[in-house]
Amino acid sequence: MLTLNNCGMLVVVAGPSGAGKTTLAKHLVDKIPDTRFSVSCTTRPRRGNEREGRDYHFLSEKEFERLREEGYFLEWARVHGRLYGTPGEWVRERLREGLNVVLDIDVQGALQVRERHPAAVLVFVLPPSVERLRSRLVGRGTDTDEEVERRMTAAAEEVGWAPAFDYLVVNDDLERARRQVESVMISEGLRTSRLPVDGLLEYGRWPGGRSYWNGVRAVVSAGPTREPIDDVRFLGNRSSGLMGLSMAMALRDAGAEVTLVHGPTSARPPDGVKPVAVRTTKELLEELRRLVPETGFLAMAAAVSDFRAERKLRGKTERREGGLDLRLKSTPDVLGELSPRCPVLAFALEMGDDAEKRAERKMRSKKATAIFVNRGDVGGIGMESLGNEGVLLFENGRRVEVPFSSKRMVAERITHEMGLYLGGGDAR
Ligand code: ADP
Ligand code: 5GP
Repeated sequence: MLTLNNCGMLVVVAGPSGAGKTTLAKHLVDKIPDTRFSVSCTTRPRRGNEREGRDYHFLSEKEFERLREEGYFLEWARVHGRLYGTPGEWVRERLREGLNVVLDIDVQGALQVRERHPAAVLVFVLPPSVERLRSRLVGRGTDTDEEVERRMTAAAEEVGWAPAFDYLVVNDDLERARRQVESVMISEGLRTSRLPVDGLLEYGRWPGGRSYWNGVRAVVSAGPTREPIDDVRFLGNRSSGLMGLSMAMALRDAGAEVTLVHGPTSARPPDGVKPVAVRTTKELLEELRRLVPETGFLAMAAAVSDFRAERKLRGKTERREGGLDLRLKSTPDVLGELSPRCPVLAFALEMGDDAEKRAERKMRSKKATAIFVNRGDVGGIGMESLGNEGVLLFENGRRVEVPFSSKRMVAERITHEMGLYLGGGDAR
């Protein structure tokens, strides 16, 4: 049977105080298997029957500040005058174990989580009306009248952030709201970007090169880079970043520790890899320089902009008759400047019948271990498409044709072949 194991998912339930976040978050933990509730730290006093370690970790302001400075929190915020924060390492450990984690936090915190963990699922819980929110806050019996009014004022601002979330659940009928948050988690768990493709690989007759990757520190570059013309416009290319993201997923599922250095893409970085966002070719080079000394494998799938404006204009250049002359300079040759000591897989998009010859020359001049070349002048593959096909060339002359398939499967095939080659198997 085809079994697809789920990778850990980070779910953030946020919304105004009294909306029903805790009620719904706890429901998810009860209902969805392998799901844990993240217990936050707070500096507010303990209420009624709240228990240390179950409801919150209650800290003094001083203790909280110390932890904050140590980088202990995945996110933190001052909410209704008190400090609240999510313990970062606890969350990361659970996700690494393949468990789902549910955070019940405020809106500011949710937005910070999105920045640090782009694959997180953000659910906004909205009370059905202002009156119902007030009556729930009063009915909960945990806050003074003054505190209730403070929370009502905050709610008005928080609701403005609902459209920035992935899902909106109106918590009117509790049973329905429970079913809705459950379906969000069930559907999100079925996203192909989250799922390892082990089951699908059983259908292929590929060489078993995956075991090589266990514990290898891999860096994958992905997406286009953008070179500014002025503060608004840029030079770029049509790369979607999907090939690099697919390489990151394939290496992740084979057991590598993956850092993904990506230019601006609309696809969101996959779970279980460390994303680092860059914009220009120079920024990409700087990040890679920082990472390369600690790296065991480098996959250069980014489509960098090879040119930049010699002089960046300030502000937004006005439209003018007669147009605008731009002088372009070359951007840095990333691989040439890095000269990494680890094995390198380069990617090349080439036009015309001698695409392979040119890619081979590129591999040799850049001292790469291998190069994957795909044609830029054939419809349905490469840039802006979901599929790809090409040839994987190795420094020792080995040549592997990778047939037309989804970019994810092409990435799996490359990962197998590279693993076999680097592991010193028959392929060498
Ligand atoms: P939050 O965590 O967002 O502050 P809670 O989960 O503590 O909100 O819910 C606030 C109060 O409203 C609680 O007393 C809870 O039992 C109640 N409540 C939650 N959802 C509903 C609902 N759909 N209908 C009626 N009462 C609700
Ligand atoms: P309460 O004091 O009522 O338990 O929570 C007040 C608000 O703080 C709620 O909106 C709750 O979701 C939020 N909150 C609880 N824990 C955290 C946290 O770790 N981080 C952030 N940013 N907000 C939190």
